[in-house]
Amino acid sequence: MWTTGNFETCRKMSRAITALPGVGAKRTETLARLGIETIEDLLRHYPFRYEDRRQAVTVVALKDGESSLARVRVRRVIRQPFAVRGAKGSRIPMKVLCGDESGEMTLLYFNARWMAGVFREGAEYWVYGTAHRDLAGVSMAHPEVESIPEGAEDGEAALAGAGFVPVYPLTAGVTQKFLRGLVKSAMPEAASVSDVLPAENAAARRLAPVGYALENIHFPADEHALNAARYRLIYEELFLFQAQVLYARKRGDADTGVCTASESLKPDEAAGLFTYELTGAQRRAIAEIHADMASTSPMRRLLQGDVGSGKTAVAAAAAFFAAKSGFQTAIMAPTEILAAQHFTEFSRLFRDVGISVCMLTSGLSAAQKREAKEGLISGENMIAIGTHALLEPDVTFKNLGLVVTDEQHRFGVRQRLRLREKGKAPDTLVMTATPIPRTLALMLYADLDLSVLDEMPPGRKPVTTRYINSGKRDDAYDFAERVMASGRQVYVVAPSIGDDEGFDQVIDSDGLVSDETQSVVMASALELVEELAERFPHRRVEVLHGRMKGEKKEEIMQRFTVGLIDMLVSTVVIEVGVNVPNATMMIVESAERFGLAGLHQLRGRVGRGAAKSFCVLISDATTELAVKRLETVAREADGFRIAELDMELRGSGDLFGVRQHGLMGFKIADPAKHMDILQAANRDAQETLARDSGLCLPEHAALRRRIEASLV
Ligand code: ADP
Ligand code: MG
Repeated sequence: MWTTGNFETCRKMSRAITALPGVGAKRTETLARLGIETIEDLLRHYPFRYEDRRQAVTVVALKDGESSLARVRVRRVIRQPFAVRGAKGSRIPMKVLCGDESGEMTLLYFNARWMAGVFREGAEYWVYGTAHRDLAGVSMAHPEVESIPEGAEDGEAALAGAGFVPVYPLTAGVTQKFLRGLVKSAMPEAASVSDVLPAENAAARRLAPVGYALENIHFPADEHALNAARYRLIYEELFLFQAQVLYARKRGDADTGVCTASESLKPDEAAGLFTYELTGAQRRAIAEIHADMASTSPMRRLLQGDVGSGKTAVAAAAAFFAAKSGFQTAIMAPTEILAAQHFTEFSRLFRDVGISVCMLTSGLSAAQKREAKEGLISGENMIAIGTHALLEPDVTFKNLGLVVTDEQHRFGVRQRLRLREKGKAPDTLVMTATPIPRTLALMLYADLDLSVLDEMPPGRKPVTTRYINSGKRDDAYDFAERVMASGRQVYVVAPSIGDDEGFDQVIDSDGLVSDETQSVVMASALELVEELAERFPHRRVEVLHGRMKGEKKEEIMQRFTVGLIDMLVSTVVIEVGVNVPNATMMIVESAERFGLAGLHQLRGRVGRGAAKSFCVLISDATTELAVKRLETVAREADGFRIAELDMELRGSGDLFGVRQHGLMGFKIADPAKHMDILQAANRDAQETLARDSGLCLPEHAALRRRIEASLV
């Protein structure tokens, strides 16, 4: 699952990736999964961190949790035993005993039996990896290695003295090595990438030229060059984002909409839809929305509320106003599972008031899709709930008046606009659970008005959260057994799917922290389900992950919802919005891999019913930052508070630090971390648009082309 950027690079401006040597049909397909189709896309596939390989360290000086380069001689290779039930399930690694004059260490390789052939006893190697120190001594899991021919000097090998080496987000079938080589071969094109920033801003902010920035973001000459490159690219990304938002807003301001909530309809009338009392916050948001809808200028509103705050009810109320006034509503969810869940909920809510709801996702049969579409053209269906399938050109509405997008950061501004264009200046409601501090929200969503659900429905008990290391892992699963024995269900979440693609695969999807330096082994869903099915033979344990087909995912989710699965092992596909009140426990494995917002959202899947709920975070990470972050999630229940603390913990300017993906689809900017750059870019973009609102001046031509391209 890869987040599309909010302003995708303009395809036409750059040559296709196939122009590079060694990129055929197969590679093209694989690279497309990373969002790389053109040479510029490749140049803008930024590393998320660097390995500092300027100097080698002796074994005795290796620091726990730090990535380093060492020169070692191999003493003994202990092969990995064949696992009883297939190679995947084995937790016993291959071990390589090695060392230098200063001390001994062990290299560990899990599920990589072929690595045994790489090492020769008695020979010397460069190894680069994260050192782990404990009572048993020093170890490195899955280090990169390069053999040293007898008599070779320090610095002759590629691993040694290589400076800052980029580490990229990957996908199956693409290795770091391949990507590094490919980027290198594309480097000559960096100079011809067009600069979209107005020259006066670039000069005033002393920005590095785009060509220089692209070269140094991949292969930095030194630390100074890297900082200059990063500053330029972060500024550029934030400036473009702001300029795009302001430009689109101006374009939209010219629209006059229609009144989609008739005068005679009162905000309170929506309350009748629900079996429960609305919270004060829900009533306030509904009133704000009603006022927007009753006016003739199109609504553009962001509804922000922590997981479980009841955003769906607010969306339903808005759809109710529209339907009662004769207008259709389109609700776009980021996943099929979520769309299906909304569909069930809405069907139930609207059954008795005679408003018909349909679903439109790519997983439906052709006949089902046709039926839904016909109902939308005729106006028989008043509410359409779906995924990206709603954006298809052949989906047309009789009278679309309201567009709702759920979990906004998954969609770009562009998709939002595309859905809006299916109506005549319809109202827009964007819902998000991403807890963004208010000051930040106001800048990032400059084109939207804000409603906040800052009150939880009554009776919700906070989820008791424990942070433990794997020494207590057994206790956690014993507790899970008790939960299942009482008829409740359990989620187990792992950061990766787990496959045979090789050891240097970095899983880097939404909400995950891309820092493999934090943990020795990363738990994978496929390994876990095997282990847990064996551990709980009398329970129904199943797996759900992002690489499964939509239908399959939905079928599993459906069975979990109705209680036919006791324990669901999954990757972050369950992250957004699923609602199974009977699930009262969640175990997160390798918890250090997740962003704090991600963990908090995950935890929001439990604690949805009346029963007491539990969340266990398992992590063996030892770095101070990782420990503090996990303690924060365990201690705090409020998503906004967590977001603020996260911002403080991460601080600014840590060159090799962890980076959170997902928020707004930024590639390099982290708005929470780069507040100062965001402010600068925001001010500059406002000035530029204030001076030249249509971007008609010749010095803004490149900027306008880029923005227009991202909005179509
Ligand atoms: P989210 O904001 O995360 O999308 P949901 O809309 O899924 O939250 O609501 C979470 C749960 O709370 C649902 O089961 C919903 O029926 C319930 N709920 C929403 N509002 C209220 C309320 N005012 N009182 C009681 N339960 C509510
Ligand atoms: Mg929701």
